[in-house]
Amino acid sequence: MAKKLFIKTYGCQMNAYDSARMAEVLAPLGYARAPGADGADLVIVNTCHIREHAAEKVFSELGRLRRLQQRRASEGGRMLIAVAGCVAQAEGNAIFARAPYVDIVVGPQTYHRLPELVAAAMRARIVDCDFPPEPKFDHLPEPRADGPSAFLSVQEGCDKFCSFCVVPYTRGAEYSRSAASVLDEARALVDGGALEITLLGQNVNAWHGEALAGGTWGLGRLIRELAAIPGLARIRYTTSHPLDMDEELIAAHRDEPKLMPFLHLPVQSGSDRILAAMNRRHRAADYLRIVERLRAARRDLALSSDFIVGFPGENEEDFAATLDLVRQVGFAGAYAFKYSARPGTPAAAKEGQVPMEVKEERLARLQVLLGEQQAAFNRAWVGRSSDVLLERRGRYPGQLAGRSPYMQAVHVRAPATVLNSVQRLRIVSAQPNSLAAEIEEERACA
Ligand code: SAM
Ligand code: SF4
Repeated sequence: MAKKLFIKTYGCQMNAYDSARMAEVLAPLGYARAPGADGADLVIVNTCHIREHAAEKVFSELGRLRRLQQRRASEGGRMLIAVAGCVAQAEGNAIFARAPYVDIVVGPQTYHRLPELVAAAMRARIVDCDFPPEPKFDHLPEPRADGPSAFLSVQEGCDKFCSFCVVPYTRGAEYSRSAASVLDEARALVDGGALEITLLGQNVNAWHGEALAGGTWGLGRLIRELAAIPGLARIRYTTSHPLDMDEELIAAHRDEPKLMPFLHLPVQSGSDRILAAMNRRHRAADYLRIVERLRAARRDLALSSDFIVGFPGENEEDFAATLDLVRQVGFAGAYAFKYSARPGTPAAAKEGQVPMEVKEERLARLQVLLGEQQAAFNRAWVGRSSDVLLERRGRYPGQLAGRSPYMQAVHVRAPATVLNSVQRLRIVSAQPNSLAAEIEEERACA
């Protein structure tokens, strides 16, 4: 009988990608993914350490799992609990002190060893948070597409050391997969039904992998090669750093119709003083110039971003500069976070920590502005047509849901036969976070 595996995923798309790969690594052992933790033989909590709140959520989830584990034991069964991801990497053994019922702690670079770790955990608790010299990608099975939209991790880790960020410590040094392994994985995903591939990396546009015939390529060249794969309709990439937005990548936005006209390009702050303290190594004007070049290359490019408010030392003038940058760019959507001091990062030890109520008040103001921009962007689509990749059933019977080229969530009443295809839809109304549409002309499914 298949063993039940439940994976709870926190954080970014890279964690969602890792969770899918963990399930694939465990499949030969008879583990099949279950929708919930109740009755599971193995539960993996794939964690995120980016903000304090995220790590705290993990420990309350572990407490809940503890009760299910006890119930399973009282029925004569056994539920193993594994903690994976960046909290595992950052805390290592210390997780056992707070949650002694955890069986496995495994970091983001060693989850390909899960079969051995599960076997060892039957006897005693085990930790594996190495940064092995051989990349895990060499040991992972060929991925399977799970629906028309797939993630593909091309780059991991980061060498930028922004002063607020734990990624360089939890994910390690920057590593780029070779072009050959990325292209092979992309072809396998397309053969398995993927129409859209999102290339992932903590700093995805820093990708500089081994080229097919020696030397290295940058992300722009890789995208051109991917675009030549028959059957692949859409390419996206995330998350990018402004400094790595090179000419070739900007040109790919101009020349490659498969590259979607939407870019998540975090800026964090509009104040040069704060950008310097964050060690972002660019000024607000540099960001604006990059946006200008991108829009010159692709007129309809829509942008989103990440912002941190209340970074140590941020005053009203700095925050006003952030609001000003937002007004100048005009975002289609963006994420704003209160600064969260992460132990071991340089910013955590800085003077001038901003009081929580000030962070909350600034966050609220920024979110109002970003929300207005997103609503205006969505409203502008009413009455127009858009190509939508219909990738899942909607919440209501007869409804399908998907994404426009600009990452807008779109809902439409449509027959299930057009699920997993790109359809031309007419946008009939807009909500702040989504669009409603009707079918304009039904296309043969891809
Ligand atoms: N590599 C990307 C870049 O350079 O912008 C960002 C990757 S990071 C995993 C995702 C986002 O989390 C960041 O853009 C930042 O806005 C936010 N973040 C990271 N550390 C944070 C912290 N200590 N407090 C609040 N937000 C944080
Ligand atoms: Fe973190 Fe991104 Fe800065 Fe790297 S570039 S340290 S991932 S915020």
